[in-house]
Amino acid sequence: MSKRFLVTGGFGFIGSHLVERLLADGARAHVVDDLSTSPISLDAFLDLLGRPAALTHDLCTVLDYCQGNPRDSFDGVFHLASVVGPVGVLPHAGKIAHMMINDMTALSDLASRMGAKIVDVSTSEVYGGGRDGWCSEDDTKLIQANVTVRLEYAVGKLAAETALVNRTKVSPLQASIVRPFNVAGPRQSAKGGFVLPRFIQQALAGEPLTVYHDGTMVRAFTHVSDIVDGILLAMERGENGRAYNIGNPRNKTTILELAKRVLRVTGSRSEISFVDPAAIFGPLFAEANDKYPDASLALRSLGWDPKHGVDFVIQDMADYIRSGRTA
Ligand code: UDP
Repeated sequence: MSKRFLVTGGFGFIGSHLVERLLADGARAHVVDDLSTSPISLDAFLDLLGRPAALTHDLCTVLDYCQGNPRDSFDGVFHLASVVGPVGVLPHAGKIAHMMINDMTALSDLASRMGAKIVDVSTSEVYGGGRDGWCSEDDTKLIQANVTVRLEYAVGKLAAETALVNRTKVSPLQASIVRPFNVAGPRQSAKGGFVLPRFIQQALAGEPLTVYHDGTMVRAFTHVSDIVDGILLAMERGENGRAYNIGNPRNKTTILELAKRVLRVTGSRSEISFVDPAAIFGPLFAEANDKYPDASLALRSLGWDPKHGVDFVIQDMADYIRSGRTA
């Protein structure tokens, strides 16, 4: 019998790619998603997959699903459901950390009952900027002094991770954590505020690319299919209670350089304009410190092997946006 996985957030950006891969690999998937951040139409996505019997779903929150005491049984749980994005999190200010911890507690109870391993898809934001942007799993985390909605997102994710790891120490629950760095690829929505869908849409529309401040911010972009590889490897080989950076250090770039690459790869004649994001999104918007991964742990011990460079990520997203597909 093929393996069956619970995927929370399986109709979101990363989740939908993970579900596609699980099904292609012959596994079965049950998605729990309230469609709140889904960048795709559910019908179009199901049509794209050919409405396979191996994919089932409940359209509700993680908490509602868990509190319904489902009788389902799973070999593993991928936890991706979350509010997301520098702009996407703003309407949830004050409720984010609470939501993340409640979801994690309920899922840990559920997974414990079923004897299923959890892979928690967390965030590189937990580092708070690391060592001038360089983030290693062994480093002390930084809690920035400035209290922002972004900080609530970061500490909520970190608190949920911490509780999960401690559960593995005091109970038989098995869990590994993945911390993605700047994921990008087809289906990523500009609504969350993420830079690449914004730049590419602007470039294709001939509008100015909105580089915030002076564009010197540093990030490392990773194609969503490489992220999915890392998530699957964490389920297969991840050490119990261990967190793994999943981000391609070779794709490190400043945002101004990224904007120039987008113009080059798309052949756009748009201008670059330097803007203040608070003027667009309001005073709750906050910038993250520079961040890029030390991925040596995932490369070495998971055998993770990211394949795609920044130009490919841009090209792939531009092809998707040009195609006008909704899934
Ligand atoms: N950014 C930008 N223009 C935009 C959107 C984002 O210059 O239209 C910058 C943003 O300030 C940040 C970087 O691009 O320095 C990455 O932003 P994103 O929101 O994609 O990810 P995060 O900041 O969470 O790493």
